[in-house]
This record gives sequence, C-alpha cells and structure tokens, in this order.
Amino acid sequence: MRALILPLIWTALLSGCAGRPNAFSDQNARTHVNQLAGAIGSRPAGSDANRRAREYLIDQLRFFGYTVRVQEAQAQRPELGISAHVFNIIAIVPGARPDALGLMAHYDSRATTPGAGDDALGVAVALECARLLAARPVRQHAVMVLLTDAEEEGLMGAAALVRDPEVMARLRAYINLDAVGADAPVPLFQTGPGNGWLVGAWARAGAARRGGSYQVEIYKRLPSDTDFSVLAGAGVPGLNFAAVGDGYAYHTPRDTPDRLTTRAIAEMGTAALSTAESLDRADLAQRSQQQAVYFDVAGARALVLRPSFSSAFSVLAIVLATIALVRTTRVTAAAGGLSGVLRTFVWALAGVLLVGAALLGMTALLREAREVYHPWYAHPWRFWVLLVLTLFVTVEILLRAGDRLPRGWRAVRHPSAVWMVTLVCWLAMAVGAEGFVPAAAYLWSVPLLVLALVTIVAPSADRSAAGAGALIVLAVTGALWLPEGREMLRFGVPMFGRLPILTPLAVYPAAVLLIAAMVAPAVLAVDMAMKPPPRDAPLTPGRRRLRILLTPALLVALSVAFAACYLAEAYTYDRPLQRAVQYVADHGTGRAVWEVAGVEPGLDVDLTGGAPSGWVPATGPPLSGVRATALPHPFAFRAPGVIQPAPVEATWRSATAPDGAIQVDVAVTTSRSGLTLLFLAPPGVVPAGSSLPGLVREGAWVASLAAAPAGTTVLSVTFPAAAAARLGEIRVGAVDRGLPGGEGWLRQPPWLASARTVWHARSLHLVVPVAEAREPALR
Ligand SMILES: [Zn+2]
Repeated sequence: MRALILPLIWTALLSGCAGRPNAFSDQNARTHVNQLAGAIGSRPAGSDANRRAREYLIDQLRFFGYTVRVQEAQAQRPELGISAHVFNIIAIVPGARPDALGLMAHYDSRATTPGAGDDALGVAVALECARLLAARPVRQHAVMVLLTDAEEEGLMGAAALVRDPEVMARLRAYINLDAVGADAPVPLFQTGPGNGWLVGAWARAGAARRGGSYQVEIYKRLPSDTDFSVLAGAGVPGLNFAAVGDGYAYHTPRDTPDRLTTRAIAEMGTAALSTAESLDRADLAQRSQQQAVYFDVAGARALVLRPSFSSAFSVLAIVLATIALVRTTRVTAAAGGLSGVLRTFVWALAGVLLVGAALLGMTALLREAREVYHPWYAHPWRFWVLLVLTLFVTVEILLRAGDRLPRGWRAVRHPSAVWMVTLVCWLAMAVGAEGFVPAAAYLWSVPLLVLALVTIVAPSADRSAAGAGALIVLAVTGALWLPEGREMLRFGVPMFGRLPILTPLAVYPAAVLLIAAMVAPAVLAVDMAMKPPPRDAPLTPGRRRLRILLTPALLVALSVAFAACYLAEAYTYDRPLQRAVQYVADHGTGRAVWEVAGVEPGLDVDLTGGAPSGWVPATGPPLSGVRATALPHPFAFRAPGVIQPAPVEATWRSATAPDGAIQVDVAVTTSRSGLTLLFLAPPGVVPAGSSLPGLVREGAWVASLAAAPAGTTVLSVTFPAAAAARLGEIRVGAVDRGLPGGEGWLRQPPWLASARTVWHARSLHLVVPVAEAREPALR
C-alpha cells in the first residue's frame, strides 16, 4: 500500500509546485513512469504486476476527480482466432455536453521489458493531461481516459473497449499515445478514419507540432500495430502519436525509466495536451470522409491540405513542370544541340546507375569485411557518412572523367540541363506517388512546383538568376527531405533489427539515393551556375589548388569513414542484437527441445553456464510430429532439452447430440495466471462451433486465450460426427514467457548471454488432455 500512497503524495505535491499549475508537468509524468516501469516493472496482461499497475492508475484517476470503472472482459478477435482476459480502465469527468473526448494508452507491457517508453510514457502523459483537463473550470466535452490492457497480446484491450456500450455511445474523438522507442520525436503518424477536421484541430493547437502524412503510408506497410487500428476499424476517429526516437530499446529489457528522455515526455505531453484542448474547442459531433494531407514546417507550423486542394496542387505542379520541362529542354538544346540533350540524359542515367552500384558495392564490401550481416546496427551514422562520401567520390570521378572526354561526348553543363533531367525524374516520381502513396505525394509535388516556378520565372540565360533559383529549390527540398530523411534512417535501423530477416543489401543505398535525387540536383545546379563555360578554360590558381586537393581529400575522408565503420562494434549493451529463444516440451511423448535464433550467424550462447549441449543448425519443425512452429529467423540452432513439469493440467469429455455432432468440453487448470492457453483440434478437423474463436493455421484449427486467469478454463467445441474417432488427438498448449532454469524478472537462464544481446523468449508446453468418462448421449 505504501507503494501506492507515496507516489500519490508526490504527484499532489508536484502538481502544486511544478511551475504553472495549468501547464503540462514533465516531472509529474516522470513520477508515473517511474512508478509503472520502475517500482512495478514489467506488467504483462494477467500478471500480478499488471494488477498493481491498474490499482495505481485507478487511485490516481480518482484523485484527479474521475469516475473510474474497470471493464473486465473476455476480449475476442475472431479474425485472428485469439481471445484474452482483459481489464480496461475507463475513467470519465463530465463536460458541458455528454459527448466525450478520449485519451488512450495501454498500461500492459511485454514480458521482456519494463515498458517505460512502451507504454508507461503514453499512460503517464494521459494521466497528466487528465489531471489538467479535469481541473479546467470549463469543458465543452466530457473527458474519457481509456487505459487499455493486453495491447501487447494482439490489441485485445481495445477489442473489448469497442464493445463497451458507454464508450461507443459517448466517445467522439480520441488521442492515442504509444511508442516504438524511448526518445523524441513524437510525431502524429496515423489519423482517421475521415481525418480532415481532426487534423485541422491538431494544426490549430497552439504548441509545436511534429508529423507528416507520409508516415501514414510507411506505417501501414509495417508489421506493427497499435490499439488505434481497432478503434479505427470500429469507426471512431482519432489521432495517433508515438515516440519514435531510440527504437533500440523498444520491447527489450533496456526500455527502462532512466533511458526514457525528458524530451520524449515533454514533446508527447505538449502535443497531447494542446491537441486535446483544441479538440475540446471543436465540434466533435462533426464527421467527414475526407483524408487530409498534413505536414509540419520545421516543427513550428503545421499545414493541412484538404484532399481537393491537395489534388489540385499536384495537378498544378505537374502542368507547370511540363511547361518548365519544355523550356529547360529548349535552353539545353540551344547550348548543345539535340544531341546535347540526348547526351545529357545518357550521362544522367549512367551517373545514377554508377552511384547506385557504388553505394551497393560499398555496403557489400563492409558486410564482407566485417563478417557480420548488420555491421552498421549500433553506429549507423558512420555508415551513412560512408555512403554519402561514396556518393560524392563517385560523382567527382564522373565529372573528372567527363572533363577528359572530347567536347562532343560531354553532357551539356548548364543549370537548365540539370533541371531538364531533374524535372523528368521528379515528374515521374510525383505521378507515381499520387497513384500509389497519395498521403506522401506532397514530398514530390511541393519541390516540383517550386522548381517549375523557378525555371519558368528566372531568365534562363542569366546564370546568377539561375543560381539564385537553384538556392531556393535547395532550401525547399532540404527542408522537406533532410530532417525527415534523417528521422527515417534513425527509425529504420532498429526497426529492421527487430525483423527476423537479413536486412536486404539495397535498403540503405536506395534510401540515400532517393534523398540524393531530391537534394543533389540543386547542389549541382548551383555549382554549374558558379562555373561558367568553357569548362576547359584555365582556372584561377586558387581554384586550381582547390580542384587538385578535392579528390585526394575526398578519398582520404572515404578511407577514414570506412575505417570507422570497420572498427565500430556491431552491437552494444544499449543497442543490442535481438535474438529469440524457445523451449518446446511435448508431454505426450516426453520430448523437449531448445531453439535459439537470430539474424547473425553463430550459436553465441555461454556453453559453460549450464546450457543444454548438442546444438545443431535447425531444420524443419522443432519436434517431429508435434505442432509447434520453428523460430522464423535465418540462423537457428537446436539442442535436446529435459522435460519440465507442465504449468497446466487438462481433461476433456464429450457428449453426442441427436444429430451426431459431438460436443467436447476441454478443461484446463493452472495455478499461474497470465499464461496463454492454446486449444488445438485434430489436424484437418474444423469445429462447427466453439466458445472461443479459433482459426486454421498450417492445416490445423487452434484457438488461443491470452492472459488466462488462474483456475480452470473450459473451452466448449462442437465437432462433426466424422471426427468421433480422432478426439484423442486434441492437444492443449500453454505458452509461458519465462524459460526453464530462468532467473530474475525476465525468468531467463544465465547461459543466454545478455551483454550485447536481448532475448525474446517463450516456453511452449503441449499436453494431452486426459479423457474423462463419456457422458450419456444428449437428448
Ligand atoms: Zn505499445
């Protein structure tokens, strides 16, 4: 109890003395994070820590004046064949209208992490905003604080929430707060459904804003999800913010309160509070089907383009760019003839291909030299500097080679020639983006429009005007592409590190090439405007010295960058390799197996620390004839294990209905709460009905129940009469996040190295339920 009262007093004291009483207090939010992710720690659904977190949050919300209730439910997502026993916290303060504005975050965490960023951060920010909103003398709308459970089990808390009558009747719009990292930025990265008016409220919010609708296009192609998706599916409009910096900590034991930056707390707090206040001033009853395009300008202002305006804008950009293309082609032809135009395109294409090949070659060389597949993981900046220098050196070599060629072989060297090629390239990208990634199309249509205007307005013969125009284009593309490109590269490395695949060689070369395609043409145009023809005219002595020094300087820089990449540790304590481990026990045959897997070769476990022995590279299923899936990673090893006691006992009994259908009740008893229970039908037999939803996976029907309470859980299934002889093949599985021989809160054995590695672990026990006496046939 003391654990609960102390932070309560703290919060009360802090809220009284932390600066302006109406402003978001980072300290208050951090107190909540420390309590959830520090004092309580990892709090997976169904665990005792999860219950303690819930009690703390209920106390806090009541203290702020909210009416709080707990929605205890058996959440189901039939489309995935999964269920979970969840406890959502629903807290309400009334407003002038019954319609409610929501603040949502999930209070559960993965079992492998204290979950400071994911999602104690979101919960803490929701609490601090809740305190401030409840203290306002006037509120247009009721405020609903929705703290969901079991998000990490497949968004199950949200699945229950959308079945709550009061929530569905009153919730008009909400803000979801989550994280895939432990640092800022905290962009608005997902909106909808029908976001036009919502995004308008976000843009009007007074504070600094971060976000770009291009992220919507990226996010919907990533294999991750938040509670937001479930509410969006149920038609509740919302805005989704997430901390995306320092993704190395996400879902790992490193996601601790001290790792979470104050920048992340402050940025999420400001964004959530100002947006909530702006939404409260808006009419939440309004709806629109429009999907608006939005982006921030240097974090200070936000622009929202209505769909009609955004398409008109793209059309205008495309039309003007076509006019500009005709004009620049004419100027290029005047300087070098039609063959000059052709040669310019050929050189440009050759240049792009050569630069692409050089970037790819450098990445392959680094991988080969380092003998790891992701040598850049812990030090990506060194790698990007290497790629950018590779690009510079390749371009420099190309230009030098061009200088040595006879005049009739060269490309036309005039800013207009650069713009001619660029316009063709950007036009193709803008049209493609409009068709395939409309929410991101502004990234091409805005630079295209600016370039078109500059080339149409500036007199083509005037080199200083051309130079000034190029600088304007550079400012626009640089502002749009460099900060976002940096964030995306920062986000991409840990994101790829979590996937069970070898990062394709071309990913980072392609990203650098794309950013270069948007920023480099303006640099080239400025360069050409500064150096009037003829190029073979003698240079001034100063320029010549610079010219002579440039190539060796670039080569030295390239060598230094390569050495820095070569010497960089691929994985560190703070940026560890993500690996997976599973223990599978088949209690029917008395066999067990260990499996470890990852995206780097090598077994790399401490074989002296009581580890299993007899490791071999893994192939096929973990145990032959047993329904357990292998780890999906490219490098996996197995060793025989010793069978451990199962955490569950199971029985089944059946009764036959007059129509021949067989009703089977499978009862699973466990003394531990929080296990995931699996009910597996005989392969090929699909039930006609079941009390929990299931799905056919790899040829066999399975229903899963996460966060199962301690005690007995019964699954009732109806099988067709033809399955009568096969009921003995029914299996029950129990998934536990701890491992045999596990120690500490992670319950992982000491032979799993953890200095530069983190483990995603599970134990799977498959048991044969004991048949109870058959009941007499049903009448
Ligand atoms: Zn989360």
